[in-house]
Amino acid sequence: MKIVLASRNKHKIVEMNTLLSGVCEDLEVLSLDDIGVIGDIEEGGESFEENSKIKASVPAGLGYIGIADDSGLSVDSLGGEPGVYSARYAGEPCDDKKNNDKLLCELEKIGDNQRSASFVSVVTILFPKGSELHSFDESVLEYGVLATDEKSGARGFSCRGECPGKILYEERGSGGFGYDPLFYCELDKTFAELTPDEKNSISHRAKAMSAFRHDLARIINNKES
Ligand code: IMP
Repeated sequence: MKIVLASRNKHKIVEMNTLLSGVCEDLEVLSLDDIGVIGDIEEGGESFEENSKIKASVPAGLGYIGIADDSGLSVDSLGGEPGVYSARYAGEPCDDKKNNDKLLCELEKIGDNQRSASFVSVVTILFPKGSELHSFDESVLEYGVLATDEKSGARGFSCRGECPGKILYEERGSGGFGYDPLFYCELDKTFAELTPDEKNSISHRAKAMSAFRHDLARIINNKES
């Protein structure tokens, strides 16, 4: 089965590839470049669900199985911000350092002890019209919710994963990307201090992918039985 990952974020592509491995026997993960899609995908949705569907619908509209993750940081005392604007919180072009500085600045204005936050990831898969799994029975979904792309008629599902933590006062660690150096998690380290395996054991994306793999396997098995 060929799946096209609708992302240009190199870090995410590596994480998603690891998290997708072994989901089914003959899985081949392609990128947007592999199918000749150039330029960035306009997101513009108001939720992680909407944006991940918009992204997955690009390969699905071209006849490929599309998969996408939309993710971001949601800070409780900032009313859920940066949320869907996480990548461009400090404006365009996207810059992790500027985003982190802006976050610290916004939290400083609010005061101490209001630092709880969650990373959120929503993974969506869309099967193009006419493909083998397009008419899967949605009652097999245990964690996912049905997702449809009205324009192309593609059909699939979305799974959400969340990882709770808190925002530190300064950056720590050199791994990962984005807000990782500020995000202190249950392993008593920032995400940027974790090894890739440690991050993949607790991250929002790993949780969304685990639910996703479970439901995708159920769809495939249901088709075969
Ligand atoms: P997306 O590519 O539109 O989903 O934007 C996701 C943005 O959210 C990234 O550019 C980061 O700023 C942030 N983000 C999402 N997941 C992570 C993560 O695992 N670590 C750090 N930042 C993340």
